[in-house]
Amino acid sequence: MISIEEAHNLIMASTEALPACETALDDALGLVLAADIVSRDAIPSFNNSAMDGYAVRAADIADATPESPVNLSVVADVKAGDVANVPVKTGQAVRIMTGAPVPAGADAVIRVEDTMTEAGRERAAFERAPAASDKLSPVLVLRSIPAGRNVRLAGEDVKPGEIVLAAGQTLGPADIGLLASLGFPKVPVYHRPRVAVITTGDELLEIDQPLEPGKIRNSNAYSLAAQIKQAGAIPVRYGIAADTPAAARELFQKALAECDVLLTTGGVSVGEYDYVKDVLADIGAAKVFWGVAQKPGKPLGYWNFKNRHIFGLPGNPVAAMVSFEEYVRPMLRRLMGQRLLFRPAVTGTLVSSVRKRPGRVHIIRVHVDKKGAEYLVDSTGPQGSGILRSMVLADGLAFIPADAESMPAGSSVTVHLITLPEDH
Ligand code: AMP
Ligand code: MG
Repeated sequence: MISIEEAHNLIMASTEALPACETALDDALGLVLAADIVSRDAIPSFNNSAMDGYAVRAADIADATPESPVNLSVVADVKAGDVANVPVKTGQAVRIMTGAPVPAGADAVIRVEDTMTEAGRERAAFERAPAASDKLSPVLVLRSIPAGRNVRLAGEDVKPGEIVLAAGQTLGPADIGLLASLGFPKVPVYHRPRVAVITTGDELLEIDQPLEPGKIRNSNAYSLAAQIKQAGAIPVRYGIAADTPAAARELFQKALAECDVLLTTGGVSVGEYDYVKDVLADIGAAKVFWGVAQKPGKPLGYWNFKNRHIFGLPGNPVAAMVSFEEYVRPMLRRLMGQRLLFRPAVTGTLVSSVRKRPGRVHIIRVHVDKKGAEYLVDSTGPQGSGILRSMVLADGLAFIPADAESMPAGSSVTVHLITLPEDH
């Protein structure tokens, strides 16, 4: 048996990011950029109005006040999507809508709220659909504004040739929006690994089947697929392998031909029908380790096979999930080019005492209560490795050291916060 640290080191030493590929922008959320993104365009690509109003020459309205408004003739009307082909000369204005191009000659946009039409109608003239006749009627400007006001300048957000997003960055919704505005329907990212799930055991029933004597439903195939998805990878289920070497061998080979990672559950311990290790050896997988000094998850094994990563996870539902959380998830993140691999690790304070046999590290499922700067940590209840409810209620995994026998309430323990994003 090796230690938890050795197991981590061996897994990480054999793991590097999968090759990058061009991925549809719609599927890139949460993935890591494999190359810098250089803008080909300016954003905005033309000077445009930030307001509904009138494009003017600021010097023309320098003396405008509500008491003595400045009268400008309106020579054109531009809305978003139009081309502004009528310039603004001294004494003139162009009616303009938000997002419409600012015409040549104009250097500012006066808001409609700061104008009146000459006929003296109420200020918010744009609230009515303008009749063709009053569209171009002269406008009274009620205040002055500096040049540049309400004009969004070409390139003020992004300049052509600028690196807008750097390699190694994880794409969030705003990054996706920026890439869309720059015209990138595909982006270079580290792709999602395909992760095969094969559960072993003659006792397993598909989850839509009624229970039969001696049988249980194949819950691991679902909890693991959910963990795989949550890690950003793609679960691919290959069904249930019966407890014979031939059944396991056939499914393992198919999965290894089609996926980057293979997860098996069950059949990896020392029981009579535990064939997983033998079958993997038989098909030529190189064993990296088998057996970790932890509880749950002692029979965890890890193999390499032609750039593929294989985990033999224990069959017990909690042991499988905890092993995924602690070992498989960080490895999947590294395959996807993530730099932050591990959940936040904090020092917590035990609310109740814990007793155990010395020898292995116990990983207990806990509820974490943050009181000021202190993390209060309490067991989620019975900790049997088949008791999935202990996991359902957990937001932390607490590590009770291998040589400890009993830890009184108030003791300090390391806790991994398994509902928070990775921070190191
Ligand atoms: P094994 O490691 O094959 O001896 O399995 C250990 C325990 O986990 C046994 O109680 C199994 O019934 C249970 N188990 C194995 N595979 C699954 C599964 N896919 N879903 C739920 N429980 C399982
Ligand atoms: Mg079994």
